[in-house]
Amino acid sequence: MIIVLERQIRDDHKQRIRSFLEEHGFRVREIVGEEETIFGAVGHLTIDHREVEVLPGVVRVIPISKPFKLASRELKREDTIVPVRDVKIGSGRVAVIAGPCSVESSEVMYETAEIVKRSGAVMLRGGAFKPRTSPYAFQGSGEAGLKLLRDVGDYYGMPVASEIVSPEHYAMMREYVDVLQIGTRNMQNYELLKVVGAGGRPVILKRGLAATIQEWLMAAEYLLAHGSEHVILCERGIRTFETSTRNTLDISAIPVVKKLTHLPIIVDPSHATGIREKVSPVALASVAAGADGLIVEVHPRPEQALSDGPQTLFPDQFERLMRDIEALCPVVEKELARLPEKGEQRPQFSGFDAGEHVSVAFQGEPGAYSEIALRRFFQSDAVSSQPCSEFRDVFDAVLEGRTRYGILPLENSLSGSIHENYDLLLQYPDLRIVGEIKIRIIHSLIAVPGAGLGDIERVYSHPQGFAQCARFLGEHPNWQQVPFYDTAGSVAHIARQGDKRCAAIAGSEAARAHGMHPLKEGIETNPQNYTRFVVLVREEHARIADPDRASIVFTTPDTPGSLFSCMRVIAERNLNMKKLESRPILGKPWQPMFYLDMEIPSLAAFEDAYAALATVAENLRLLGTYRVQ
Ligand code: PEP
Ligand code: MN
Repeated sequence: MIIVLERQIRDDHKQRIRSFLEEHGFRVREIVGEEETIFGAVGHLTIDHREVEVLPGVVRVIPISKPFKLASRELKREDTIVPVRDVKIGSGRVAVIAGPCSVESSEVMYETAEIVKRSGAVMLRGGAFKPRTSPYAFQGSGEAGLKLLRDVGDYYGMPVASEIVSPEHYAMMREYVDVLQIGTRNMQNYELLKVVGAGGRPVILKRGLAATIQEWLMAAEYLLAHGSEHVILCERGIRTFETSTRNTLDISAIPVVKKLTHLPIIVDPSHATGIREKVSPVALASVAAGADGLIVEVHPRPEQALSDGPQTLFPDQFERLMRDIEALCPVVEKELARLPEKGEQRPQFSGFDAGEHVSVAFQGEPGAYSEIALRRFFQSDAVSSQPCSEFRDVFDAVLEGRTRYGILPLENSLSGSIHENYDLLLQYPDLRIVGEIKIRIIHSLIAVPGAGLGDIERVYSHPQGFAQCARFLGEHPNWQQVPFYDTAGSVAHIARQGDKRCAAIAGSEAARAHGMHPLKEGIETNPQNYTRFVVLVREEHARIADPDRASIVFTTPDTPGSLFSCMRVIAERNLNMKKLESRPILGKPWQPMFYLDMEIPSLAAFEDAYAALATVAENLRLLGTYRVQ
């Protein structure tokens, strides 16, 4: 069951609820969500829900209808992100794991790691204990292989994944491996699941070759129920009557699983097809269908591989596949995950420790594009989002310390700058920009569950939502368009109305946030619709290592060539200008002020330019030095 706790619950009340549940045989998991904190309680005993509901601090108790509890989306609405060293799997990124089927010689392992890293893989795979169908086939190189895998991973700065086949190997394997893989043949090896779950290492759980999705999720539930929080599901093909490929990739499992569970899902196109030529098309299809990553077999000389050579990619095939995935990612609103460069600042900034909860203010209702942007930017479960009704409230929340960060849209690729926010940036000199992210805007027509296109008579959205979906709306001339203050707010509105005749235009995240249903996705006329967001913080938290972008604002003296003098400072230092925009100054008609963004090779180079600008520009102000994601 799900126990929703009061927002400002007292610690002693929280502790009492936890103890009560544990005394009644429940395992309790605290989940800090965007809007509320909940306890997920699972156990074999049943209890009258009212006994929990009356405890102080409890808002309500909701039973979970699915047999898998901890794995279900009912328990946790947000996507789980599995952190593996510097790599994050789930939610908005496509992470590619690659390497040979089995760990082979040191020469092959170093060579493979070099190849797959150069092409963009973020994790190295290699089996050291191979569950082979034939007892006469190569069984793997055991602990020596794991040690080698670890050494190669460390050398290239890549986390490593390897299969565990027996509970007895756990203690030894955790010394070497970042992600343990549970293979298809062991998906229902419950003793293995219990031990691996209790250990807490991230796990790739492959789907059994004759397992239903429900059985697979029940296996994930074993891992979660025994303590693991970090489970990655892996679809690797199932056994069907078809013999043209080694297995049959169940591609529809991807969207099905995404709806049922918050856990990330990756695809193994190598074992799914068993044939090298089929691997890339199937891998691309998996990304298109929403997979959070891939695990692919690659070898410098596949014809010499000790196992699974026929399904293993040549280096150039893998390189080509990675380029194709990179091109495909924006179409499906994803980014290709990459390893941070040496010394590269991670998006969490300094002072944002693992396990620390930080809050981020955004404007709009739950599910708004700003909220999607902040989830992508922070890529962490430890971030909670605080909705605000006005942009100004976002600034105030950060300034007054109610949230650590705030996120704001500054510019849209189709409609241009959001001037209100540029003006607000000037009014809050104690805040700085510390990050930037662009997201693709995909609009959906959203209605109450059960409504069809034929039921719709009235559509609510922000005027920009209507303008950006003009072609689709033109196909439905009889619909009345009712303007609303924001897109996600219009979804909240139709949810309150509960009327089948009403629809809203917003992102499908907003549909999920308000229990509504996207009737048609991707209805925007122009797919090149991106919004650029910036992350704000109070000045004292603003210093990040290795910024690559700076934003400043200034005016120029009313003399010939004054703007040119400023540009010369930037040009002479070889800084790449990304944007220059003039804005009228409030109360001073015809005196423009300039907003300027530039790429900076280092903070020192920027500081030098800034000092020089101060001698030629007037009213020079720093908006921030930051990293672009
Ligand atoms: C593997 O990934 O090496 C493997 C054996 O996969 P599966 O368990 O899917 O057959
Ligand atoms: Mn293999």
